[in-house]
Amino acid sequence: MEKYCLGIESTADDFSVGIVTFKGKVLANIISAYMSEEGGIHPREAARHHAIAANKTIREAFEKAQIKPQDLTVIAFSQGPGLGPCLRTGATVARALASYLDVPLVGVNHCVAHIEIGKLATKVKDPITLYVSGGNTIVSAFDSGRYRIFGETLDIALGNCLDVFAREAGLRQREGMPFGAVVEKLASKGKKLVLLPYTVKGMDMSFSGLLTAVVNLLKRGEYRLEDLCYSLQETAFSMVTEVTERALAHTEKKEVLLTGGVAANRRLQSMIEAIAEEHDAKFQVVPKQFALDNGAMIAWTGVLAYKHGIVTPIEKSFVKLRWRLDRVEVPWVK
Ligand code: AMP
Ligand code: MG
Repeated sequence: MEKYCLGIESTADDFSVGIVTFKGKVLANIISAYMSEEGGIHPREAARHHAIAANKTIREAFEKAQIKPQDLTVIAFSQGPGLGPCLRTGATVARALASYLDVPLVGVNHCVAHIEIGKLATKVKDPITLYVSGGNTIVSAFDSGRYRIFGETLDIALGNCLDVFAREAGLRQREGMPFGAVVEKLASKGKKLVLLPYTVKGMDMSFSGLLTAVVNLLKRGEYRLEDLCYSLQETAFSMVTEVTERALAHTEKKEVLLTGGVAANRRLQSMIEAIAEEHDAKFQVVPKQFALDNGAMIAWTGVLAYKHGIVTPIEKSFVKLRWRLDRVEVPWVK
């Protein structure tokens, strides 16, 4: 008989429910995104959105997957890292569902899930992963039982940097067109490269000085917005590309995986593809529905963990706001 896992994602602005089979077939991946008028995430407002969206999203997932709640073998939820109120809402829903159905619960690390669904969706086996989203900027690879962090941001995430700039510029995000995509569109019409702070310290990156500088230039009004978008992208993307390339050269891995919401950006894709080629590595971008925060990745990682005997008793299912990628044992990877 086929076995199924339902996964709940709620680390930030998205509430999502995925259902996958134990063999790795994604049957449903329903995402309900919270968007505020002015952009940005207000954790408590987002959590309220999640609480309201939960019922409908779960229902839709079961309808799409064509299975019944009683068919589930295990329930997974994103246990961290993320925003407290958002994580707690998802965890509460997961606990209630698991207790009611009397099935085991598995707490999943959100960053591990991004990597695992990327491997499932693109068939890469042992990549250097560049994970760039609204909340994270991490270059990682597997080594000795864990995903090790080779480089990361010291302050804000790359996606957040693009989002705040867009907001300062008075841009609007629409359904299907997040701030990063709006910046990308304007950047494609940019011609002049304006000098901006480029900050790579060792293998770590900093985006806050860059953000301040580009916002200051914006307010001075001397440059076209298109040129500022272009310069911001070129500078920020070069930073993550440099760190990814060094991790690639150091580890001599043969695959590069690009994931997270910012992975949708064509310019970033071409920069990472170029360094992959130079090192004879295969380059893969995670398809959008699995690159954004989504429930399927939590469900799939739940399956991998559960198959290796990992379960999270309800009394230990408290959320972990700062649960680092490199603290998670991943016994399913060899
Ligand atoms: P996530 O945190 O994974 O849900 O991804 C959301 C982030 O991805 C936000 O910061 C978005 O602005 C960003 N994003 C989405 N599409 C693009 C794009 N085409 N270019 C750059 N950033 C993007
Ligand atoms: Mg999101």
